[in-house]
Amino acid sequence: MSTQQFLDLWLETLKLLEPKMQRGQFITWFKGTTILAIEDKTAVIGLPLPMFLNWHLEHYHNETLDALISIDPTIEKIVYRVDVSLKDDNERTVNLLDAFPEAKRRKLPKKHEVKLAEGLTSKLMNPRYSLESFVVGPNNRLAHAACCAVAKQPGGKYNPLFLYGGVGLGKTHLLQATGNAILKQAPNATVVYTTTEDFTNQVVEAIRSQKMEQFRRRYRQVDVLIIDDVQFLANKDRTQEEFFHTFNALYEEQKQIIISSDRSPEELSALRDRIVSRFERGMIADVQQPDYETRLAILGEKAKEYELFIDSKVLQFIAEHATKNVRELEGILMQAVAQYELEHCMPTVKSIADIMRKLSKDPYGDDGGSENMQTGPERARTFEDVIEGVSRYYSVSVQDMVGASRVRDVLVPRQIAMFMSKKYLRMSYVRIGQAFSHRDHTTVMHAVDKIEKKIQEDAQMLREIRAIEKEVGLAV
Ligand code: ADP
Ligand code: MG
Repeated sequence: MSTQQFLDLWLETLKLLEPKMQRGQFITWFKGTTILAIEDKTAVIGLPLPMFLNWHLEHYHNETLDALISIDPTIEKIVYRVDVSLKDDNERTVNLLDAFPEAKRRKLPKKHEVKLAEGLTSKLMNPRYSLESFVVGPNNRLAHAACCAVAKQPGGKYNPLFLYGGVGLGKTHLLQATGNAILKQAPNATVVYTTTEDFTNQVVEAIRSQKMEQFRRRYRQVDVLIIDDVQFLANKDRTQEEFFHTFNALYEEQKQIIISSDRSPEELSALRDRIVSRFERGMIADVQQPDYETRLAILGEKAKEYELFIDSKVLQFIAEHATKNVRELEGILMQAVAQYELEHCMPTVKSIADIMRKLSKDPYGDDGGSENMQTGPERARTFEDVIEGVSRYYSVSVQDMVGASRVRDVLVPRQIAMFMSKKYLRMSYVRIGQAFSHRDHTTVMHAVDKIEKKIQEDAQMLREIRAIEKEVGLAV
């Protein structure tokens, strides 16, 4: 068969595979692949990078074989071969972006227009924010439960509902999710979601145009009033006054009120006592910083939402190092999405570390937000620790690194692993050689020398090594 015939056969196979997975995954893992040969009823599938190998074996082997057989029943087996020259080879591989153009993005359903009375406005709530997509952990369990209860029965037991907590911990998400949930059940309900800033502007405008009466009447038709970031009411006396009246009127009629603030009611010292004591009549719940497991779960959820396929080790790395709040986690992920869409490069620990450095969240720097990192790595003691650290950092498999592969992508990581084994574990050249598939000790000496020299000349290399050292707990 000619190259072109292989390519045609592969394209047909891809057409069968593509609908079976998410687009992101398909593009990521099938880019640069092809059929290199068919020998003895065995198709040799070419992969452009060593890290593809395990992934294909684990995830796509059976499907790929089935698809191939359904097109060419003479085939009985597939094997994989890594061939890095496939990476930029347009002749032998299919341009997936051309062959599988992205279906026109489904237009988002028109955002729910809240039916409001004349002149009564609500900010649109983000339909992405739902109670289901909110990841529950020990830090926000109560807040989430309260929102679910309110969504089920607005104006019931939990009125007003007051959520408080630091920036980026999910207050707005919960508020809007609750509003969305209420509207889903009762599409005609008048749900006003507003920020304190907006509310204030409206009050100011009403005062200016002398339409205060009208303003009050309008607000009193509201079924659910959601006001975000109520701490900004501080020092706005007239708005506070108006807010108080509106609040009371709605409360008397058992309309649901939901409020968020960056601090607890008793810390809202700049608010008048009588407002604060109104808040305290209802349900108060806080949102705290998520722990490691919750951060990881949130990342998983967001990655799914953005259809970003991302290795679990990489997610773990982000969760370990981005500890400040959820917005920070999401920011890093969004950068990774952007990079992925622009360059089609899969996020690795290294690319994420670069992103974090750019966002000046140097995961290895002093302000890496590690103050509440519960999962600091143990000090590496064994060869496995080192080799796994390097493997994780460069996203190359341990097998490839210690194995015989001569692919460029594993050469430097392998040399670095040798260097670190020598420097920190003080293994002999001979033993290191043995650990790397019985390589000659002179190969190891050469590698160690090479990395030592590189560190002197190449600042980037030095940074990378420092980063790995920190990762595996070797840093001095
Ligand atoms: P806040 O209003 O408290 O400053 P946001 O609600 O704006 O925080 O949250 C920032 C981002 O983090 C949002 O995109 C939100 O979806 C996300 N987020 C926060 N907590 C969670 C969570 N537990 N599960 C899923 N997403 C979350
Ligand atoms: Mg907010």
